[in-house]
Amino acid sequence: MYSSIHFQSKPRATTNASKPEVIEKLKEIVGAENVLVEPEKVEPYGADAVKEKFPPEAVVFPATTKEMSEILKLANAEIFPVTARGGGVGYTGGAVPVDGGIVIGTDRMNKIIEISADDLYVVCQPGLTTWDLQQAVEKHGLLFPPDPASYKDSFIGGNIAENAGGMRTPKYGVTKHSVLGLEVVTATGEIIRTGGKTVKNVVGFDLTGLMCGSEGLLGIITEATLKLLPMPEATATVRASFKSMELACKVLTKFTPEGLLPMAMEVIDQNCIGAIEQNFAFGLPKEAGAILIVAVDGFKDEVEKNAEMIERILEANDGFDILRSRSKEEEDKLWDVRRAISPSLMKYGTLKLNEDVVVPRSQVPELIRKIEEIGRAHNTFVANFGHAGDGNIHVNFMCDKDDSESIRRARECVKETFQLSVDLGGSISGEHGIGYVKAQYLDMAIDLPTLEVMKGIKKVFDPNGILNPGKMFV
Ligand SMILES: Cc1cc2nc3c(=O)[nH]c(=O)nc-3n(C[C@H](O)[C@H](O)[C@H](O)COP(=O)(O)OP(=O)(O)OC[C@H]3O[C@@H](n4cnc5c(N)ncnc54)[C@H](O)[C@@H]3O)c2cc1C
Repeated sequence: MYSSIHFQSKPRATTNASKPEVIEKLKEIVGAENVLVEPEKVEPYGADAVKEKFPPEAVVFPATTKEMSEILKLANAEIFPVTARGGGVGYTGGAVPVDGGIVIGTDRMNKIIEISADDLYVVCQPGLTTWDLQQAVEKHGLLFPPDPASYKDSFIGGNIAENAGGMRTPKYGVTKHSVLGLEVVTATGEIIRTGGKTVKNVVGFDLTGLMCGSEGLLGIITEATLKLLPMPEATATVRASFKSMELACKVLTKFTPEGLLPMAMEVIDQNCIGAIEQNFAFGLPKEAGAILIVAVDGFKDEVEKNAEMIERILEANDGFDILRSRSKEEEDKLWDVRRAISPSLMKYGTLKLNEDVVVPRSQVPELIRKIEEIGRAHNTFVANFGHAGDGNIHVNFMCDKDDSESIRRARECVKETFQLSVDLGGSISGEHGIGYVKAQYLDMAIDLPTLEVMKGIKKVFDPNGILNPGKMFV
């Protein structure tokens, strides 16, 4: 079993994928120039944002669904592992071939096939970055809401396979809420179609929902039909400081009774604030124990009115140093603080165990309070920030990569935090998925009968277990 933390690397594995006749066949399918086998060329495809190394035996770049199908038919006949890869910026090792075999890069499948402004959908291939898709639909006055912070690097296929979230989740949901239909190649090379082009579609099982978050274990997405919305005319952001995380997080439930649905609600704790100030000196208030950033979108007048209401609610609930944006530039400035967190945190350690637990948002204050207790009990520095509006908190336990005892303590903190999140009615991952990094904890979040159903589904889609082995179920 592979587990998180860290610096694992494996020599290049040898499976049937390395057989010369298999490599030849792969070259026949996609063209020799689209198959990499040289160790130095395949190495970058053996890692993702977890930064551990499991080099594949070959990397193959198909351009069409037909080529994808032929590759999978070959893999299923010869029985070797196949791992799909998008932008390779996943946080749980999903795109990494831990058992060797081939990596299928979707980079060449990066076309937009159709944009329908009338019917509010876009059809595209999986290898498009989220950013490129958003730019393309924006030209038609349309919005594709899912916005993982990795949007400039992550691919639509990777976003769907991870069911990625982002800042705008409180109002627009996660990636699955914007997926209408998919074309998928299964492990046996069958090409299946799920859903369609309409929001309403209740014909048959919801295989589209099943594919969202399936982490490359059930099939490889070769085309996606995604839901679009009209681009809001304006956005505004309000940022406030609070004496404590508890006070900041208690405000999360105060907006809806006033009829407000903010687009984003992000929280930052005192340890993050300290790190940001040391690195960037934004001049945040010294007495700030937490920062809450709230954003709204819609028509200009409505946005202004809503932003004023938010300002008032923050003030009435112990917020201070409250700043409201009046222009795009001011808005960007307010968000700079949020963007500064990740690069700043490394001052607290050489290794960051970054988890992304989720709880019902009313439980966020309790979650944070108890995580701080866990950190203290294990003498481990912890910094919390994240998408508090949907209960998804990024918990960062800091340790020293050369000190195995500090890593052991941080691992214990991670385990206790996972259990705590489940106990509070939440789960062990809000958006980063399971991969191999969290596979050992899956049964904390999912009971045995449910796990058995999931394993049965995997068997139907992938009878020989060639798709992304070593992930999720171990
Ligand atoms: C700086 C940074 C910020 C991030 N911020 C966020 C955030 O705000 N929200 C969030 O949710 N995540 C975030 N992430 C995590 C990550 O970016 C997301 O999980 C993203 O969706 C991964 O996309 P990718 O294209 O890089 O996928 P990859 O890492 O390449 O692959 C992820 C999984 O998808 C599978 N896969 C890829 N393509 C396909 C396909 N075509 N068909 C089937 N399976 C496929 C892979 O096998 C793998 O299991 C962040 C990561 C970083 C490094």
